[in-house]
Amino acid sequence: MMWAEALDRMMAALAADGSLDLSRIAAVSGSAQQHGSVYCTAVAAERLASLDPARPLSSQLTDVFSRSDSPIWMDASTSRQCAAITALVGEDTLQRVTGSRAFERFTGPQIRKYAEMDPEGYARTSRIHLVSSFLASLLVAGGDAPVDPGDASGMNLMDLNTASWAEGLVHATAPDLERRLPVVRPSSTVIGTLSAYWVQRYGFPAARVVAWSGDNPCSLVGAGLIEPGVRGVSLGTSDTVFAYEQEPATDPSGSGHVFASPTGQFMALTCFKNGSLARERIRDDYSLDWSGFADALRKTPPGNRGRVLLPWFEPEITPPVADGGIRRYGLDPSDGPANVRGIVEAQVLSMARHTRWMGDHVRRIHATGGAAVNQEILHILADVFNAEVYRFEAGNSAALGAALRAFHADTLRQGRPLRWPEVIKGFVVPLETSGIPPNPEHVQTYAAVAPIHAACESHALYGGGDPFPLIAAFARSPA
Ligand code: ADP
Repeated sequence: MMWAEALDRMMAALAADGSLDLSRIAAVSGSAQQHGSVYCTAVAAERLASLDPARPLSSQLTDVFSRSDSPIWMDASTSRQCAAITALVGEDTLQRVTGSRAFERFTGPQIRKYAEMDPEGYARTSRIHLVSSFLASLLVAGGDAPVDPGDASGMNLMDLNTASWAEGLVHATAPDLERRLPVVRPSSTVIGTLSAYWVQRYGFPAARVVAWSGDNPCSLVGAGLIEPGVRGVSLGTSDTVFAYEQEPATDPSGSGHVFASPTGQFMALTCFKNGSLARERIRDDYSLDWSGFADALRKTPPGNRGRVLLPWFEPEITPPVADGGIRRYGLDPSDGPANVRGIVEAQVLSMARHTRWMGDHVRRIHATGGAAVNQEILHILADVFNAEVYRFEAGNSAALGAALRAFHADTLRQGRPLRWPEVIKGFVVPLETSGIPPNPEHVQTYAAVAPIHAACESHALYGGGDPFPLIAAFARSPA
């Protein structure tokens, strides 16, 4: 209901804004949080197909939901279900077929948990939407939208190579699940037009509705990642590193994911949970603001004299860390500036090492997310990855990506072929102040620090040898 109310409010605000000529809207798509799910009753399709423009949306949805909760990506309560699905299917098969091992936040394990905990509620459920397909269902005349392969690949249920439900996985997840899932359709599918509710209530035109997708696949397009050799780095609550892939190479460590890309190829993604959350903890621990944080980075030497801070305030996804708690190697907790440098360097070194499976050659980084405004952090990204770092005008790459997908699908529908470079041209434009080149001297420093960081991680997590001799040798080295 909250999803529906949010959409209704946003459309009302757009219509009331006055600065936008609604009649020029040709097509609409959307980006929704990946992995979230919405559980609907048998009457949902009929209700959504006959929304009354005279009444608010939510008042018409009272009997549409079979479940009052909508689990989202932050729900990590399904370890048991992940283990059960893995036991039935096998870890390698799961990763090879769907692009990911079983993950707590993925929709398949979430569905299994619901079917186990509330079999009656599950029996009342006729349709399990992703947030993306649910919101598209609210918009489109007819009211039952498909999911796109991009968002569906965050479920542990879809065969990446055929972009259709993987029968064995569907059976291993929950009883009689297939009929409850929406169909999978290409991201560029025009699924209908805006329903009378939006046209009559708010004055939108009967614009074409294009399949929605998840925020990750939409970001791939909105950040301009339509070719190999470029990495997206999103510095948000969590940090993510993502890339366009021509072939679905999977992460041998099992932490990373391969999703379908809206462009028809693949998207590699690795998530680091201790992103801005951890940077903020250090900022606050040393009573700094962001400008003081940036100052600390400016005043401290790249490589931090070999000292390392492992940033796991919270349990970490990559590398998997079950028990939170930061670890310091050679760092004095009272030395604020060194700890600031320690957290950022550890995060970026970890990003570089744990995403090597995406392909070695990185020419450019497209940085997005709230912390991308921090130039000092971007310098460290450039130096560790030895790649030029760009920022873009539109901060919200997921929303931009959805809009560009709508444009792409609508143009194709008119029978005009359109290549992706043309889709993003003029929209995904680097800021003039960006284009931060790597500093060759610092690149060398980080090449020397990377094995120290790896040794600290191995010591902290896997009983590896004492990293202090490495730290001491680095501190003694002339550089
Ligand atoms: P979300 O993952 O919620 O979409 P955003 O991408 O909007 O997050 O990023 C928000 C985060 O950006 C804030 O939590 C804050 O920690 C971080 N941030 C904002 N300004 C700065 C800055 N100057 N330096 C570093 N981090 C910043």
